[in-house]
Amino acid sequence: MGKCCKCEEHRWEDPQEVVWEDRKTGDKYCIFHAPEDCKFLRFADEEPCTNNEFNDLVFERILNAKEKGIECELSYAILPFDISFDGPLNLPGINFYNAKFYGVVDMLAIDFSGEVNFNCAQFKSKVYLQDIDFRKGACINGVTFLDDVLISSSYFYDLVVINDTMLGSSSSIIIQGIDKLSLKEFNFDRNTLSRLRFMNCSWPDTLCFGDWEIESAAGLLFAEDLYRAMKQRAAVEHDQPLVSRWHFREKLMQLKQLLNNKRSNDLLEVVEDNEAKWWPRAWAWCKLAVLPRTGQSEVCSASTGHSLALASETFAPGCGWGFSFYCPFS
Ligand SMILES: [Zn+2]
Repeated sequence: MGKCCKCEEHRWEDPQEVVWEDRKTGDKYCIFHAPEDCKFLRFADEEPCTNNEFNDLVFERILNAKEKGIECELSYAILPFDISFDGPLNLPGINFYNAKFYGVVDMLAIDFSGEVNFNCAQFKSKVYLQDIDFRKGACINGVTFLDDVLISSSYFYDLVVINDTMLGSSSSIIIQGIDKLSLKEFNFDRNTLSRLRFMNCSWPDTLCFGDWEIESAAGLLFAEDLYRAMKQRAAVEHDQPLVSRWHFREKLMQLKQLLNNKRSNDLLEVVEDNEAKWWPRAWAWCKLAVLPRTGQSEVCSASTGHSLALASETFAPGCGWGFSFYCPFS
């Protein structure tokens, strides 16, 4: 009967047996890649398999990969039923690239030893990821969520990247009970931020950015934009300490763009290295900078000796006083 056309097209190392043939095209599919209503256990079976039978095959495949110490390949798989991963369980990394989940996905108390790749996957129902250890991070780029998502009480030991998500008109992604060490590994873009809701999370001093984002001009602009969005959200939530934190970072990104040359970056490294000492004094500097508004404030560049003018900005809505950066090394 041959092997599944999709397994071969997507280069699975172990192409699966055919269970269904598309009579119109002649293409043959394994149970993982067959359309949602053609999940037969064997070729020529008259009745599709049950929910439990199909999910058992998925779990069996994942546990086989764990025994072999390899990533579990499930790219482009079509999972038509509700599926629960009830821990505590240690699982390997899983490649769900471009997979389609029709039912509710419920993962509880799972320790993933490898990366979990959800890139370009589609979730048509709710997703619950609770008490999950992402030891090698997770990729959630270009994912479609048609219903709500909850990521709760989980730990990110490596990058968890969630960008370019597409959500249903009323769906949101709730991030709940995540500590600051985990959030330091949590990378998201402004588009996704608009649908993220953070509850009982503690933020690190800096957001997570990739290397390109903090080294290139476009990346610095991206970072500035995201810090500004975070500041605006904190202002709406009346969280003044967070408004201050993100405002500081937003301005630092602006400063980096202004001083985007090697010598100046050396200076900025010094500034950042000393940040732990610098930040507590920032308020004192802010107070020094509380001057009658003249419309301009000064930013000094030690490397060039020039002063660069920045339009002064109101520190927080309604404060009515200006916030100025100035260089401590001038
Ligand atoms: Zn296949």
